Amino acid sequence: MPKQQLFRYSTATSHHLSAMMRPAKRFRTSRGNALSDVHSLHSLGLSVHQPEDSVIQHSSFSKDGRRIRRHISSSAPIRERLYTEIEPCDDWSGFPDEYPQPEVLEGPTEGRFIFQVKKGRVTRVLKRKFFRSDRPMKVFLENREGYLAIQMILKGRGDHIPDHCTLCPSDREATEPTFRCVDCTNAPLMCQDCCVENHRLNPLHRIEHWTGRYFEKVSLRRLGLVIQLGHQDGSECPFPVSGPSKFVIVHNNGIHRVRMSYCGCEASLSSQTGSMHHKWEQLMRNRLFPATHTRPGTAYTFQMLNWFHALTLSGKVAAYDFYKGLERTTNNTGAKLPNRYPSMLRVSRQWRHLRMLRRGGRGNDGERTIDQTKPGELAVECIACPRPEINLPSNWINAPDNIK
Ligand SMILES: [Zn+2]
Ligand SMILES: [Zn+2]
Ligand SMILES: [Zn+2]
Repeated sequence: MPKQQLFRYSTATSHHLSAMMRPAKRFRTSRGNALSDVHSLHSLGLSVHQPEDSVIQHSSFSKDGRRIRRHISSSAPIRERLYTEIEPCDDWSGFPDEYPQPEVLEGPTEGRFIFQVKKGRVTRVLKRKFFRSDRPMKVFLENREGYLAIQMILKGRGDHIPDHCTLCPSDREATEPTFRCVDCTNAPLMCQDCCVENHRLNPLHRIEHWTGRYFEKVSLRRLGLVIQLGHQDGSECPFPVSGPSKFVIVHNNGIHRVRMSYCGCEASLSSQTGSMHHKWEQLMRNRLFPATHTRPGTAYTFQMLNWFHALTLSGKVAAYDFYKGLERTTNNTGAKLPNRYPSMLRVSRQWRHLRMLRRGGRGNDGERTIDQTKPGELAVECIACPRPEINLPSNWINAPDNIK
């Protein structure tokens, strides 16, 4: 067979194939019932649906492979049968004359099969059938009124407006819920106290307040949340040391002004040095990278620094564009925001430097300090370059010169 035949062929005409057509196979269930329409066959189970059924029965194996689980579910929209049947073919009579031709996947086609050549064998493949879901943009245009309606519903308070906060404990008098979090998954409307209590461990979520006509952004700091460092469980420190009144944290979802409190109790006592953790240390332990060392007033979350690093490497995103994007996410009206762009440039360089040291194994060296790192030690070695005792055979020195 010439090399150019090693492509996928489309059927030319149906009469070419008529000699090779066979009736489609019928699947049988394990119970032996011949079914006229099996709609899907899972790799480790099956789903059976008959036209008169209003339910679908799914069978699947348990994780250890010992038991068969059966689930009954109400009938979902039924897809047409999807299968790809590959049969070996030794009959060359119906083989198309001209090739290669692009495979015809949509539109009116003649014939139900295409030819495929794999490892020198010609196989006849039933064409894949296409469904409405294969034209997602067309289906979207038909349904865009509904999509827009749901976006408008989410701008307001939704379909079910409770008259009292459903998260309030029973011993507290429930008040009208007027706050919601756009970062919590499926969070209901809640009162101010519940909003603060539910965000002690998520202090960088974005909160909105219902004014009576619309939702406006409001910070958790204004609602009374104080971020307590040094206490992993979010509990209050008995001897807190308050930080700057307007501490700024730059996160993936924007720039936040927060109220911060350092730990002054034994929870932050270092077991190695016996002294209290410094402020910068408490921030770092909370995955916040301080912009300055001595009296930090700004910090960047590790998530944000990691994300920015990945974006610069994969998308060549400039730091300025990235920071402008964060500003617009925070407030798109052009309002004045704290400018932390210069310190972000500095911190992102420090972040990359620390990452380079870590990947070079400098974090695990108990003998040498970072200053004692040798030149070239942090370089990434080429995996293709031949290096003795790493990717060369032990007797490479004896190899003849022409292959050495
Ligand atoms: Zn409540
Ligand atoms: Zn939240
Ligand atoms: Zn404490």
